[in-house]
Amino acid sequence: MTIAARIAKPSQYLKGATGDWEIVIGLEVHAQVASNAKLFSGASTAFGGAPNDHVSLVDAAMPGMLPVINEECVKQAIRTGLGLEAQINLKSVFDRKNYFYPDLPQGYQISQFKSPIVGEGTIRLDMEDGETVEVGVERLHLEQDAGKSIHDQSPTHTFVDLNRSGVALMEIVSKPDMRSADEAKAYLAKLRTILRYLGTCDGDMDKGNMRADVNVSVRKPGGELGTRCEIKNVNSIRFVGQAIDFEAHRQIGIIEDGGSIKQETRLFDPGKGETRSMRSKEEAHDYRYFPDPDLLPLEFDQTLVDALKADLPELPDAKKARFVADYGVTPYDAMVLTLERPSADYFEAVAKGRNAKLAANWVINELFGRLNKEGKSIEESPVSAAQLGGIVDLIEDGTISGKIAKDLFEIVWAEGGDPKELVEKRGLKQVTDTGAIEAAIDAVMAANPDKVAQAKAKPTLAGWFVGQVMKATGGKANPQAVNEILKAKLGIE
Ligand code: ADP
Ligand code: MG
Repeated sequence: MTIAARIAKPSQYLKGATGDWEIVIGLEVHAQVASNAKLFSGASTAFGGAPNDHVSLVDAAMPGMLPVINEECVKQAIRTGLGLEAQINLKSVFDRKNYFYPDLPQGYQISQFKSPIVGEGTIRLDMEDGETVEVGVERLHLEQDAGKSIHDQSPTHTFVDLNRSGVALMEIVSKPDMRSADEAKAYLAKLRTILRYLGTCDGDMDKGNMRADVNVSVRKPGGELGTRCEIKNVNSIRFVGQAIDFEAHRQIGIIEDGGSIKQETRLFDPGKGETRSMRSKEEAHDYRYFPDPDLLPLEFDQTLVDALKADLPELPDAKKARFVADYGVTPYDAMVLTLERPSADYFEAVAKGRNAKLAANWVINELFGRLNKEGKSIEESPVSAAQLGGIVDLIEDGTISGKIAKDLFEIVWAEGGDPKELVEKRGLKQVTDTGAIEAAIDAVMAANPDKVAQAKAKPTLAGWFVGQVMKATGGKANPQAVNEILKAKLGIE
């Protein structure tokens, strides 16, 4: 095995009793292909049907049934490969991976082993400190999902639901290129974003439509790769982070106590925040892989690949770069705005023809903040892009202050309506009439001679007056005008 090239930054090292340690992580992600029918049968992939409602004779492995490849699943795998900037293999092979599972009626899983449909690719991670980390993708292959054993409906029986049996999965295997729990979390988030942009997987981890096997080892910085443990089927990004932190410390403890790591498969227990051994790791040769005699090798032309490529949507990295160039937003803001395609579209609708930085600020801080708080998605936003654009227009042309704009946002959120009309009807217009502002300032100064004296001596105290004047005018005074007139009256600079 080659030594992985990337070396962690010292800030990513873990401290042990014998010095620094580096964590090495590789992820195998199972992503359910977005498709109406299963990989080798016409049965539905709909979620939530009654048990065994979506099972064809092929999925139940009745004698004499033959698999037929679903073209749409193949296209989805190619689109995903293109989105990961990966090698697309015009010829690939389906193999049988033999193992017994009560919910796998065939007695084997049809998968791809030596010749996957997609080869090496790259995923770029946008880290919080602004750094971009490149993680290699080893391969992507197509395979069938298994059914589900249900153990909690009877004390003496296990039931089997084959609805999921035969559903197409893409297994996306990374290189061991990640060096911290944060990088692994960023990888999953980025992969999910890319899959959703492409429309090839909905990325819904709650439903099990995307799940990760997390491979973790530790080594002395820059040293030989250590023995890895694989934590199976972790189903949330947060749990992936917790599992890695726990597992790395566990391995360091064992090695520093003079022990060695056994390669094994482990499970993460979210309740306890720890991993525990499930079984010793099986080797590929244990599965007796061989090419499935029921299926010809999968072959297609470059023209199909080119056609699919021409149809791809703009992907997150490209969109992010364009937002920085076209709208002048920071790379970090551009990243936040492009996490989901509908959010990016929403932002563009608000920003076009307006002050884009102001628009970005309102979309990220006010809108996203409020949506998060209420657990709503952008599609469920009570404030449309046209309405938020209307609010931004009113700030830009000086009709309302930023403070009033927040109140207006609340009104539109709760009651709907046209921002401009609301401002008229409710008298929310900013007071720029200097006479009115002067009068308000005079009144506050007259009532507080002690504060006037203090502010004259210490100009930073003038802020108190601004607050009082804003209060007196119901937040409608133009803050800039208040500041200027106040300074002149107090005789400060
Ligand atoms: P399998 O687990 O099915 O045997 P692979 O050999 O393809 O499959 O490796 C699975 C994953 O383990 C890959 O994501 C790879 O990056 C990762 N991996 C390999 N070696 C290490 C290591 N020493 N430490 C951490 N991850 C590793
Ligand atoms: Mg594995």
